[in-house]
Amino acid sequence: MAIRPTTQQDDSDAAHGGAPAPARDFLALGVVIVSVAMFVAAGSGVLTGVVRKYLFDEANGDAVLANALILNIALLILSWRRHAALNREIAERRKAEQAAHVLAHTDALTGCLNRRSIDGLMRGLVERAERHGGEVVALMIDLDKFKRSNDFHGHQVGDAVLIEIARRLRAAMPAEALIARLGGDEFICAAIFAQHRAGMVEALCTRLNEALAEPIEHNGTRVTVTASIGIADEPPVHDMQPAQLAADLLHRADLAMYRAKKAGGNRFCRYEEAMAKELRFRRELENDLREGLDRGEFVPYYEKQMDLETGVLTGFEMLARWHSPRFGLISPEHFIPVAEEVGLIAPLSEALIAQALIDARDWDPRLTLSVNISPVQLRDPQFAQKILKLLVAANFPPSRLDIEITEVCLHENIEVVRSLITSLQNQGIRISLDDFGTGYASIAQLRALPFDRIKIDRSFISTLASSTDNTAIVEAITSLGRGMAMPITAEGIESSEVLESLRKLGKFKGQGYLYGQPASASETRRLLREQQLLAVNAPPANAPAPIAAARA
Ligand code: C2E
Ligand code: CA
Ligand code: CA
Repeated sequence: MAIRPTTQQDDSDAAHGGAPAPARDFLALGVVIVSVAMFVAAGSGVLTGVVRKYLFDEANGDAVLANALILNIALLILSWRRHAALNREIAERRKAEQAAHVLAHTDALTGCLNRRSIDGLMRGLVERAERHGGEVVALMIDLDKFKRSNDFHGHQVGDAVLIEIARRLRAAMPAEALIARLGGDEFICAAIFAQHRAGMVEALCTRLNEALAEPIEHNGTRVTVTASIGIADEPPVHDMQPAQLAADLLHRADLAMYRAKKAGGNRFCRYEEAMAKELRFRRELENDLREGLDRGEFVPYYEKQMDLETGVLTGFEMLARWHSPRFGLISPEHFIPVAEEVGLIAPLSEALIAQALIDARDWDPRLTLSVNISPVQLRDPQFAQKILKLLVAANFPPSRLDIEITEVCLHENIEVVRSLITSLQNQGIRISLDDFGTGYASIAQLRALPFDRIKIDRSFISTLASSTDNTAIVEAITSLGRGMAMPITAEGIESSEVLESLRKLGKFKGQGYLYGQPASASETRRLLREQQLLAVNAPPANAPAPIAAARA
C-alpha cells in the first residue's frame, strides 16, 4: 500500500469566513463556563431558599432569583448545544480538507502520490530513518518505449497500462513504501531498509522487472512494457540535511535509471559515483560543443575513395573532426551523438558541408565528395532545400555530391525518406546506403528505396581475409548488389590481403587505411597538387560548366 499523504495542520478555517475555529471553540466554551458560573451563583441562592422552605418550612423564597436560575439553565443548555454543533462542524470541515489534501497530493489516474508531494514525504522518510535507524533507498522507475506503445495502442490502453503498473508496484513494494508517479511513465518508490540488507534491494528490483514485464490485457489488447530501474541508497558518509539528502537520492536514482535505459532497458542499475562524473563531463561537452561551433573548431577531414579495379582515386568522404581546446582532436563517434541529442546536428553538419564544398571546388572536377547525414536531419522537411542552397552558395555541381545515409534511417517513416531521396536525386545528387549490414535493412526496404550505391560496413571488411563468415556475408551482399544493379563500396580496407580478397569477389569501390588516414583540407590539397589533381590542373574538357563559370 502507498503511504497516504498526512493531513496538514488545520489552519484554513479563517479562509472559510468568521473567527478561526479555535477562537470560535473558545467563545462557545466561554459561554458555557459563564453560564455554569452564573448557574452556581444564582443557583446557590435559590437552592438555599428551596432547602429552607422544605426542611425548615421557612418562606423566604426569592422569585427573581428563581427566574434567573431557570433562565440560566436554558442558557446553559443552549450554549452546550451550540458548542457541540460547532465541534461537529469543525470535524466535518477537517474531514473535507483532509480529502482535498489527499486529492491534491494524489495522482488522479493511478492513485499513487504525485510529484508535488514527493519532496516533503521523502524528507519525512529520511528523518524517520535517522530517528529509528535504517536507510532510505529510492528507486526511479521509467517504462521503456512507453510513448511508442501509447502512440500505437492509443491513450486509453496507455492509461490502463499505467494503472496496472501502479498496482504491480504497490503489490511488490514494502507496505510502508512511498510510491509516486512523477508524470508520464515515470514512477519513484522509496522505503526504509535495514542497514545490513545484502542483496535485498537487488532481489526486489529483479522481482519488479519481472512483474512489470508481464503482459497487460485491456479490452482484448495485450501490451507488454518493460521498465528501467535506477537504485540509489544513502551515501555512506555525508553531511547533508534531510531535505538535501532526499533531493540527492532522487537525483542519483534518476542517473542510475538513465544508465539502465542506455544499457537497453528492462533492467536495474545501482548508482555509482562515476555516473555523476560522466554527467558533469557530458554537460561540459555540450557547452564546449555549442561554443566550438561558434568558434569554428569543427573541420572536415577527407578519406580517399578508390576504384579497386583500376586503383584510381575517385573522390573523398568527408569525416568531421573536432579540434577541442580542452580535449584535443575528438572523433565524430563521440560528438555526433551529443550534437544529435542537443539539437545541434543540423547547424554543425551544414557548416561542415559548406566548408567541404568550398574545399572540393578546388579539386579535379572528376572527384566526388561524399558527406554523412544523420537520421535526425532527414526528419527535417526542409532538408533537400537546405542542401541545394549550400550547393548554390558554393557553386558546386550536384552531380559531384554523394550523400551517405545510414541503414538506421530506414527505421524512420519510409515514405518520407523515399520522397526525400527522390527529390535529391532529381537534382542530380547521388544517395548511398551507408553501414550496410549493421542495421537489419530488409531486401524489401532496399527495393523500395532507389539508392545509387551500397556501402558495406567496415566490420565485415576489415577481417575479410581471416573470417570465413564475413567472406560469406560480403559475397551475399555483392550478389545482392549485382541483382539490384547497385554498385558497392567496401569500407575499412586495411591490408593488401583484404584488397586481394575483395578483388576476387567482384568490382568494388573501396576506402580504408590501406590508402591512408583521413587528412585535413590542406593536406588533401597538397596530395592532390602532387598528383596534379587540382581543378587548375584538370583538362578543361572535363570541367563541368558551373566550375568553369565560377573561374570565368
Ligand atoms: P563512417 O561513415 O562509417 O565512416 C568511416 C569511419 O571509418 C571513419 O571514422 C573512418 O576514419 C574509419 N575508417 C576508415 N577507414 C578505416 C579502416 O581501414 N579501418 C578502420 N578501423 N576504420 C576506418 P570516423 O571518422 O571516426 O567516423 C565515424 C563515423 O562518424 C562515420 O562512420 C560516420 O557515421 C560519422 N560521421 C563522421 N562525420 C560525420 C558528419 O559530418 N555527419 C554525420 N552525421 N556523421 C558523421
Ligand atoms: Ca560514411
Ligand atoms: Ca561505416
